[in-house]
Amino acid sequence: MRYSQLLLPTLKETPAEAEIASHQLLLRAGFIRKLTAGVYAYLPLGLRTLRKIEAIVRQEMNRAGAQELLLPMVQPADLWKESGRWEKYGPELLRFVDRHQRESCLGPTHEEVITDLVRMNVHSYKDLPLNLYQIQTKFRDEIRPRFGLMRGREFVMKDGYSFDASEAAAGVTYNKMKETYSRIFARCGLSCRAVEADTGTIGGNFSHEFMVLAATGEDTIVVCTACDYAANMEKAACPAPALTAAKPAPLELERIATPGKKTVDEVTTFLGITPDQLVKTMIYLADGKPVAALVRGDHEVQPVKLKNLMGAVDVELASEDTVRKVCGLAPGSLGPMGLTMPVVADHQVMAMANMVTGANQDGVHLKNVNQGRDFPVALAGDLRMATAADPCPHCHGRLELPRGIEVGHIFKLGTSYSEALQATFLDDQGKRQPFVMGCYGIGVSRCIAAAIEQNHDDNGIIFPLPIAPFQVILLSLSVKDAEVTKAADTLYEELMKRGIETLYDDRNERPGIKFKDADLIGIPLRVMVGKRFIEAGEVEIKHRGSGATEALPMAGAADALAAMLDRLMAGATKG
Ligand code: ATP
Ligand code: MG
Repeated sequence: MRYSQLLLPTLKETPAEAEIASHQLLLRAGFIRKLTAGVYAYLPLGLRTLRKIEAIVRQEMNRAGAQELLLPMVQPADLWKESGRWEKYGPELLRFVDRHQRESCLGPTHEEVITDLVRMNVHSYKDLPLNLYQIQTKFRDEIRPRFGLMRGREFVMKDGYSFDASEAAAGVTYNKMKETYSRIFARCGLSCRAVEADTGTIGGNFSHEFMVLAATGEDTIVVCTACDYAANMEKAACPAPALTAAKPAPLELERIATPGKKTVDEVTTFLGITPDQLVKTMIYLADGKPVAALVRGDHEVQPVKLKNLMGAVDVELASEDTVRKVCGLAPGSLGPMGLTMPVVADHQVMAMANMVTGANQDGVHLKNVNQGRDFPVALAGDLRMATAADPCPHCHGRLELPRGIEVGHIFKLGTSYSEALQATFLDDQGKRQPFVMGCYGIGVSRCIAAAIEQNHDDNGIIFPLPIAPFQVILLSLSVKDAEVTKAADTLYEELMKRGIETLYDDRNERPGIKFKDADLIGIPLRVMVGKRFIEAGEVEIKHRGSGATEALPMAGAADALAAMLDRLMAGATKG
């Protein structure tokens, strides 16, 4: 492709709306342009990289025996009502009414549609296993679309769904997908980690998120420095503390005035105690009903753990208004004593004695509060977020809590959708059984952003070779010089003949500008043809990643480059 003919609007300045490197660079390097909040156009370079990731995803999914199809984006509400998600799925589901007053939505995911397709067309165990996937634009009306391609409202996802005849067979499919995902991200040149994720009511070790480690990631993950344990915050277990000594005897309850002190910091500083002597009372709504969750002052409630412990479908933190309504005061001096709602306690709280809590009266706290004597606990268990101070739940090693970008998610669904939609097959005994399902997503467009977060410098993007929009950028350093133009044109023809994806910078621009743009858009190999090189009978190569330069003899340069690219490609897969 000739640069002079390409729609490649690079920007000198960093756009003010872009906070993180990938968003800034995707705009500056002319890969994407915003149409409206969370909705982007892919310009030619952006689309080339998107297509490359898609190609890797396709190859690996096909290799694993999955079949590609393409499902509709517009979905009828009736299907979602059958699965029960029309009510449950929040405002991310964009709903609308068509001209015939039929309720519809734009697909944020396709469990309903695929289950419907399969129940209509697959009837026997002989047709199983079946693994179907698509690469398609999804719409989720995200509350806070941000960071460019990282969290869009419209984005490209690979979503796959498997149908098996038994739990055991579904487990085999799940493991195959897990391996496939590792291969996909490695082939994209992404350094990625599979972490255990929450399975809700399914249980077992059958949900993994694939996380690209990057400081700008929206998720925090928990990884052990000693063993291979890795989990997300929702799943990372905080085992009950070992009780080494008997609890101290309960002391007499005391009321203390704490005027204006609301936060853990303020209260503990005022009382001269440490946060682990205080208990926080947090009001949540579990399926709409208030519940008080207790954690130590230095810990935070993990809402998904609370949800699982209570067997609830939905748990959300109560708003200040709701807290006022159900407790009679605003958060700040809440405590478990005298509450009429159920109290659920983290097991670290169960190990405490003589704790400090709020008194359910503004500006008053209580000292020497004891569970049992002073308040009942309806349920106790693991309720809190893991911290770097916790030991690894597997080996007691030291934990780290790095940030990650979720680029993929695999999940064993079991029979939840097939039962809700009555999607069944006849087993080898002639008995009707629900399909055992799994679902597997990859944020294809998010992968572009993740790759850039992991691979950039002050000058621009440093694309991993397998997903770079072009492999080579060929710079003609003086287009007005007939000899240079001829040599560069010839080399361009030679590279094209060999199928090397080449962007030929034939613009009438100063070399400095060409160098800057080449660095910005991040093409792995820069090949330069100029007067000085021609005199020496050479072309100069610069590697975008390492900055290393080398000279190649002009004669045979295209073959040498082809061989170099083969070598680089073989080494590009992340281990
Ligand atoms: P998140 O927790 O980031 O909101 P999710 O868990 O809701 O994502 P899934 O339903 O698991 O997402 O979707 C599969 C994949 O699609 C995710 O792993 C992620 O890579 C990608 N994805 C999800 N939401 C978005 C979005 N708003 N923009 C871009 N990619 C997304
Ligand atoms: Mg997910």
